[in-house]
Amino acid sequence: MIDYRSDTFTIPTPAMLDAMVKADVGDDVFGEDPSVNKLEALAADMFGMEAGLFCPSGTMTNQIGIKCHTEPGDEVICDQLSHVYIYEGGGIAVNSLSSVKPVIGTRGLITAELVEEAINPEDIHKPRTSIVCLENTANRGGGSCYDFTEIQRIKEVCKKNQLALHLDGARLFNALIAKNETPKQYGETFDSISICLSKGLGVPVGSVLLGKKDFIKKGRRVRKYLGGGMRQAGFLAAAGIYALENHINRLAEDHEQARTIAKTLEKKDFVGEILPVETNILIFEVKGNLTPEAFADKMKEQGILVMAISKTQVRMVLHLDISKEMVEKTIAVINQLKSS
Ligand SMILES: *Cc1c(COP(=O)(O)O)cnc(C)c1O
Repeated sequence: MIDYRSDTFTIPTPAMLDAMVKADVGDDVFGEDPSVNKLEALAADMFGMEAGLFCPSGTMTNQIGIKCHTEPGDEVICDQLSHVYIYEGGGIAVNSLSSVKPVIGTRGLITAELVEEAINPEDIHKPRTSIVCLENTANRGGGSCYDFTEIQRIKEVCKKNQLALHLDGARLFNALIAKNETPKQYGETFDSISICLSKGLGVPVGSVLLGKKDFIKKGRRVRKYLGGGMRQAGFLAAAGIYALENHINRLAEDHEQARTIAKTLEKKDFVGEILPVETNILIFEVKGNLTPEAFADKMKEQGILVMAISKTQVRMVLHLDISKEMVEKTIAVINQLKSS
């Protein structure tokens, strides 16, 4: 099977597995796993941030980030399609006892004006707005990327209103590669950043939360009570170190492959709007006689897995385990697909 359902489906490469097997490990709950400590320091250094916290998932790094920036009864501003809002099981309500003010951005991206409008006035009737969460790349936006100048404008609004600024950077490295930006730009701008190692970077498990020392210290306690304190997690951290050192630049290949597939889809009469392909995610409308489910079924018969993500849309995600040959086969299959 050629699996385009998500970039979470990758399995470790032989070189990554080798790094994992050879990892130095200890008990990370005691702070004694050298590989976890190395990964946290490496990620923090890349972004010019003070400290890092290795967690089992990006959901956990986001939830800890939001928890540490809020008090019960606060409100979180984010785009209506944000992962933190629609894909984390209502975690903001459960963990932070906070509400969400979803704003309607464009392909998952919001603006300084939208943030400003969404901030509640100082009024006892209103929840206290305390944090803005951005997502870059934006998953439901089809891997769309912010212009960094817009992020800086949002930062100004946050500063003026004393709001924390958190980044869900599950696919931040895709954005950095696509926009030719640096991790340090982001480290200087955000109060906290969550990066996923388990998406395009090809690691089996893990995410890192980055921020100031005190913030991460607070986050370490939250991670413990959420049950995310792992013991010899260095076997996983070693995969993360390997990925940060070897798998970032190759993301450009995934972006190229996604554009190639989009060019094939463009010519098909059963394909409607294709969201602009900025990184490794392709979201397109399936119309006419074919539904997204039916399209997915036809592809599956040919050994290709894609995901119907709405009543009208299909998503395909490029990643480390999709080779050039697999893309060629996919293009051949799409080319001979008929809508009836
Ligand atoms: C995958 C993802 C996460 C984290 O998901 P986990 O499965 O919990 O690691 C967070 N944000 C976005 C945008 C994602 O795509």
